[in-house]
Amino acid sequence: MSETTNSTPCLRCGRTLTSAKSIGDGMGRTCKAKVAAAAQTTTPDYKPAQVDKAMELIEQGGIVPFRGRRIFRTVSSDGTRTYLTAPQACNCAAGLRGRHICFHRIAASIIAAA
Ligand SMILES: [Zn+2]
Ligand SMILES: [Zn+2]
Repeated sequence: MSETTNSTPCLRCGRTLTSAKSIGDGMGRTCKAKVAAAAQTTTPDYKPAQVDKAMELIEQGGIVPFRGRRIFRTVSSDGTRTYLTAPQACNCAAGLRGRHICFHRIAASIIAAA
């Protein structure tokens, strides 16, 4: 990570963040509110614990846009691996097994819906 040319784009809209608070959140204030609202309304079928993990991932900057707002790069909980995640698919171990939706996909769905 470069310290001098570091500009952090908003996770949801891609605009460059300027305030320290927004950079810490990974999103602008408006986008953060929209993501929080999307988490409430778009995930009634998901287990609350999974939604919590998804929101934690978003808040910790563990998911970043990879291509537009449809494909995201996510970081494993120990930070050693990255996965490609879309609302419909994820290449993490749980995602490849595919029996249950992984929290990466839930996070991607929330951002895509926000
Ligand atoms: Zn934004
Ligand atoms: Zn996954």
